[in-house]
Amino acid sequence: MTLTERDTVLASTDPEIARLIGAEEDRQRDKIRLIPSENYVSKAVLEATGSVLTNKYSEGYAGKRYYEGNQLIDEVETLAVERAKALFGVDHANVQPYSGSPANLAVYFAFAQPGDTVMGMALPMGGHLTHGAAPTLSGRWMNAVQYGVRRDTGRIDFDEVRDIAKQNRPKIIFCGGTAIPRTIDFPAFAEIAKEVDALLVADIAHIAGLIAGGAHPSPVGYAPVISTTTHKSLRGPRGAMLMSDEAHSEPLDKAVFPGLQGGPHDHTTAAIAVALKEAATEDFKTYARQIVANAKALAEGLLARGFDLVSGGTDNHLILIDLTNKEITGKKAAKALDRAGIELNYNTVPFDPRKPFSPSGIRLGTPAITSRGMKETEMSHIARFMDEAVEAAKRKDDDAIDAIFGEVKELTSAFQAPGLS
Ligand SMILES: *Cc1c(COP(=O)(O)O)cnc(C)c1O
Repeated sequence: MTLTERDTVLASTDPEIARLIGAEEDRQRDKIRLIPSENYVSKAVLEATGSVLTNKYSEGYAGKRYYEGNQLIDEVETLAVERAKALFGVDHANVQPYSGSPANLAVYFAFAQPGDTVMGMALPMGGHLTHGAAPTLSGRWMNAVQYGVRRDTGRIDFDEVRDIAKQNRPKIIFCGGTAIPRTIDFPAFAEIAKEVDALLVADIAHIAGLIAGGAHPSPVGYAPVISTTTHKSLRGPRGAMLMSDEAHSEPLDKAVFPGLQGGPHDHTTAAIAVALKEAATEDFKTYARQIVANAKALAEGLLARGFDLVSGGTDNHLILIDLTNKEITGKKAAKALDRAGIELNYNTVPFDPRKPFSPSGIRLGTPAITSRGMKETEMSHIARFMDEAVEAAKRKDDDAIDAIFGEVKELTSAFQAPGLS
């Protein structure tokens, strides 16, 4: 059955949901999607996600299941695991975590006790919620200490990282984050982790696709444990993986199941396997390099229009803009840009004097638009659209903003999006 036929069945069973899914597909086609954690998965990934594998229960791991009938699921999961190991060059992979946050929870569960000291990048500095932010389990059940970036460079301050690590002797140090526009220096983190005898965990959720495609250095050999989502630059289904050396494999597996989870989502596992196969191709290497080339071109276009980029630019897929000099809040800019068909998110910037619900910045990235085949030429158009929309927002000129959406649609209509009909 093709996706279109399935849509037809859905339309007769549940026209309300079918209509909403159809409208969302149109939205994803029309807009310039710049949220750096989002992408367009392939039709193959979508088909695996929407398969009968959703019907199966398979608690346990391949060859050691608690339910019968897992002969084929074992093969699916083994393919996913072997492809992850080969693609990233790791000893061990667990493809069962439901998403990035539960994957990180499994890391704490495997290697720490409640109340233990753990260290990660502060959320307003670019870290992730699960790296010790106050409202999360990692902030409340662990003694979380946090590092940030330097005010003058916008880059991680390794003197500070070392000082905090030496003072607090954390059990676990997380590196990686959600709003880091620069290359993560895994060897520098590994050195500090070694000095204080901490376990270094590289959370590569955002940059997994860049690492797989050779466009960002790999943490393998530096971080014994690696956590990643599968749905960001890696361009797979919503899910996650934990990878490690041999020594850390057993506690990780036990933490995921039975520690935290019940049955794995086998349809997701199959789709992860498909995405990993796609990510092992030459085309994907080209894709990963183009993500970075596009981000650099977009950053240059924005800098030329007077935008203030945190750290002055980007090495990866992501750009963080401090809008203070443009005299508009991140939220107002993000809403105006969305109305103009340019979808991104408002975001805190390091040392943000404003509150997280209305911060000074916006965050954007190039994985999704690069999946559509956009290149440097299109990046210069996007920088212009963004500048015009921000200026129109300041004048409260909704007509001008709506006119930009017209131009945006003209651009996006020329670039097919993977997975969309
Ligand atoms: C996205 C992300 C996560 C969490 O992933 P979810 O699937 O949203 O739970 C964890 N860590 C980092 C660094 C991320 O960017």
